[in-house]
Amino acid sequence: MKHNKKFDVIICGGGTSGVAAAIASARTGAKTLLIERLGALGGQMNVSGPPGFAYARLFNQRGEQVIAGIIEETHKRLLEQGYALPHNHSEYRKGSGYTFSYIDPDMWGLMIFDMMQENGVDLLLHTLVVDVLKDGDKVTGVVVENPNGRVEIEGKIVIDCTGEGYIAHRAGAPSEKVPREELQPHTLAFTCDGVDWDEFLAYVRANPRDFVGCEVPGRTDEEMYEILSKTDNIIDLGEMRGFFSILKKALANGEWHEFSGMGFFIMPKGDEKNRRILAHFQHSSHVPGRDPDDAWDLTYCEIEARRQIQIAFNCFKKYVPGFQNAYIVRVCPEIRIREGRRIIGDYYLTTEDVGAARKFPDVIGKSAFPAGGHHVASTETLAHGRVRPKDGGSHDIPYRCLVPKEVENLLVAGKAISTDRDSYHRFLQQTMVTGQAAGVAAALCVKQNITPRELENDVSELQRILQEQGAILYGTH
Ligand SMILES: Cc1cc2nc3c(=O)[nH]c(=O)nc-3n(C[C@H](O)[C@H](O)[C@H](O)COP(=O)(O)OP(=O)(O)OC[C@H]3O[C@@H](n4cnc5c(N)ncnc54)[C@H](O)[C@@H]3O)c2cc1C
Repeated sequence: MKHNKKFDVIICGGGTSGVAAAIASARTGAKTLLIERLGALGGQMNVSGPPGFAYARLFNQRGEQVIAGIIEETHKRLLEQGYALPHNHSEYRKGSGYTFSYIDPDMWGLMIFDMMQENGVDLLLHTLVVDVLKDGDKVTGVVVENPNGRVEIEGKIVIDCTGEGYIAHRAGAPSEKVPREELQPHTLAFTCDGVDWDEFLAYVRANPRDFVGCEVPGRTDEEMYEILSKTDNIIDLGEMRGFFSILKKALANGEWHEFSGMGFFIMPKGDEKNRRILAHFQHSSHVPGRDPDDAWDLTYCEIEARRQIQIAFNCFKKYVPGFQNAYIVRVCPEIRIREGRRIIGDYYLTTEDVGAARKFPDVIGKSAFPAGGHHVASTETLAHGRVRPKDGGSHDIPYRCLVPKEVENLLVAGKAISTDRDSYHRFLQQTMVTGQAAGVAAALCVKQNITPRELENDVSELQRILQEQGAILYGTH
């Protein structure tokens, strides 16, 4: 069956990259369709990962803001409504580049629908994109499955925002993925309320060495412990990881599993008058060795992760001061994929580029995330050996990373853009940056009647519009 409308730009997947791509494309004048398999938008930000949480790392280690645009716009909107907190530059995190900009995830999930309407994005939800339409090497639309049956929808440019590069792969774009047994573990997150934060903070102050401190270059462990021993504001801490003495005891008693360490994120929720502080656990379950391209594997992940989070919850309740009356307010509806396919594009971003804080003439955004830092399925939680952008700066993301080789009229944004494994662009902020850029690029291609690859010849208009839409491209380290 053929759908009767044709679109300029079709975006597959309404997660963090997809919503940014849709808004940007529509704002640049394209008739834009966003297709999502679920009934809600936002992916990790509010649906299926942490029921949202904080944006972190919009800043580099020097404290310069390096990421803005649509992500900043959504933060600002929620801040004005009282459902976000200002960018936090607490003493504990200052100089780390790992600052938090908290938002209420559920309010974000509602607001993003308003933004779709305001910008005139057409939505098609409860719809799985299963294939592409092609004319030679040119993508000409998508094939979807939904309650209407199997439907073909034509579009001039298609953007793959599925997170795993499913659509680009179907279209024949080359990609890479490490072997199943080496993939980072996948996680089902859960959130608790009912924590006595005064009691918890008293435990932190008395036992600062029980925690993995925030890494700030030049700061010694002793200085970090000193800050923790005086801390009185849970929001400033952002993330608590370690719990070493408790972990040791719980492991000895068979009351912790061996797939991750103990830790959680702080999640403020509600408006100023009714703010609750929740504990959000997004690495207390780790399922290793499973392939996101295999539904049997994903099913195994769902079962195993639920086993692990029950162990984690019971352990926190029993052993961690302040958690004795904690209760689960949400278990995320589905496992989140930490690592999958990366598409090979016209540029392949490397760890060396990240370390050198490299700048590119076709910059479409920046990132200050260190490369590496993989999650591991052990009580260590994270592997060591991260590469930070030099001098506390950031590296540019080149437009060419979004243009897959061998297929025309297709762009990729989000997790699956073209990078090596260590510089994998899987974080919320990075995905919204590449989403926004892909949206503007796709709309421009339609306007100029050129392919995304031809746009590489002159990206000046793309860069101009991105800056007009608030993106940061220049002027920072
Ligand atoms: C456990 C975990 C914790 C994380 N914690 C953090 C964190 O603390 N901070 C941070 O910055 N990042 C974090 N991340 C990373 C980040 O949140 C995600 O990687 C990022 O949001 C991915 O964005 P995306 O747009 O590429 O994909 P997603 O947000 O996953 O969006 C993909 C969307 O496409 C839809 N879709 C998929 N296939 C189809 C199809 N065939 N048809 C239609 N729709 C489809 C999906 O339903 C989904 O909505 C975490 C990731 C995980 C797994």
